[in-house]
Amino acid sequence: MTNVMILCPVTERPVPVGLQVRPTRRYRSDLPQSGSVRCQACHRRHYWDRRETILEGATASWRRDGGIQAKLPARYLLGRDPIQS
Ligand SMILES: [Zn+2]
Repeated sequence: MTNVMILCPVTERPVPVGLQVRPTRRYRSDLPQSGSVRCQACHRRHYWDRRETILEGATASWRRDGGIQAKLPARYLLGRDPIQS
């Protein structure tokens, strides 16, 4: 099993969301639609959508594909739950 990660928008470091999946191309189908995690890197809470998750070890190619700023929506920085807003 492999840790599911998001990239912290503050530190740009990968942080585990607390879920583990089998590392297949379709791993996202085993995840909930979205969730939140208390970030180990910056100690804020981040909300994630499963389309934005990455597998542990995949962060190198993710960065190479254009980096974090272009891909993360602003709500990551606001710390608000998009469902309630
Ligand atoms: Zn963070």
